[in-house]
Amino acid sequence: MTAALEGGCACGAVRYRLDAAPMFVHCCHCLDCQRQTGSAFVLNALIETAQVAILAAEPVRFEMPTDSGRPHGVYRCAACGTAVWSEYGGLTALRFVRVGTLDDPKALAPDVHINTRSKQPWLELPAGIPAFEAYYDAQKVWPAESLARRRAILPPRSVATGVPAGRQ
Ligand SMILES: [Zn+2]
Ligand SMILES: [Zn+2]
Repeated sequence: MTAALEGGCACGAVRYRLDAAPMFVHCCHCLDCQRQTGSAFVLNALIETAQVAILAAEPVRFEMPTDSGRPHGVYRCAACGTAVWSEYGGLTALRFVRVGTLDDPKALAPDVHINTRSKQPWLELPAGIPAFEAYYDAQKVWPAESLARRRAILPPRSVATGVPAGRQ
């Protein structure tokens, strides 16, 4: 990545900068993501929380209901309500940054499509990008460098069992 990516909410109160390229980018087609965004899918850039610099107001956490019972916090601008990232499963070191909140949202394209069983039927997925009906095994899909970064921030138990950091 040549330049750090910046982004923010609709009103401009929340501003952030990604100080590294994301480890991986998810396009999630699950029904929770459709409902929470009001759109067909969500684009999440997975990156270390330590690599997300807060440049202005801190977003506020909202708890989302989950089927699994594992916590899902969505972080929103307190003033305008734009969701800028999620935290799944209590993994505070990992952020799922909403790609659409980047100043240049086309800067990051999906590395994987997940939960395609609930994909909108009119949407055709591109050839050549991995796609999974539900979740997937990062060990088989992520580049080695990203796996190493993930190992460095996840609790050892998650690494050993391969339990995904989050469903989305
Ligand atoms: Zn705002
Ligand atoms: Zn989802």
